[in-house]
Amino acid sequence: MKVVFLDIDGVLNCTETPNRRRFPYIVDAKLLRRFKRLLKQSKAKAVLSSSWRVDPIGLLAAKHFGIPFIDVCPDMPSERRCVEMRVWLLEHPEVVRYAVLDDEDDGLDDMPLFQPSRRTGLTPEIAKGVARYLAGETDEVMRANALVRIGQNVHSLFKRDKS
Ligand SMILES: [Mg+2]
Repeated sequence: MKVVFLDIDGVLNCTETPNRRRFPYIVDAKLLRRFKRLLKQSKAKAVLSSSWRVDPIGLLAAKHFGIPFIDVCPDMPSERRCVEMRVWLLEHPEVVRYAVLDDEDDGLDDMPLFQPSRRTGLTPEIAKGVARYLAGETDEVMRANALVRIGQNVHSLFKRDKS
């Protein structure tokens, strides 16, 4: 089985998601469709790592919006977030490959992290990166700070060209 550990805020919603009533739990239909396509294409299952999972209302909301997930990570408030995922993985040895989708990287050291910006949520590029990773076509992950570094390198090249 292949698994995506799913954060929701900043992945399935973004700062552009309409939310006139300022609901605490909101999903962007377009981003959810994109995520569902990714699961289907990768034959992967989602496990919620989102903090929505520890609030009964959040869990109801996730079901209400139709987020497909098979399980949730254990809630271990005193542990780093990667520990919650590793404990879940220990209990599921049938998992052959997994990726983490989260807009924040804190507590996720050494995890195969694909990190959208909360300004955009899950982009087609990141969905494609996850799909390629889950298919074993690449071991490259997509961390935001690495992407920023690439941007800076391109920028410094550009500056060099001009001088
Ligand atoms: Mg988030």
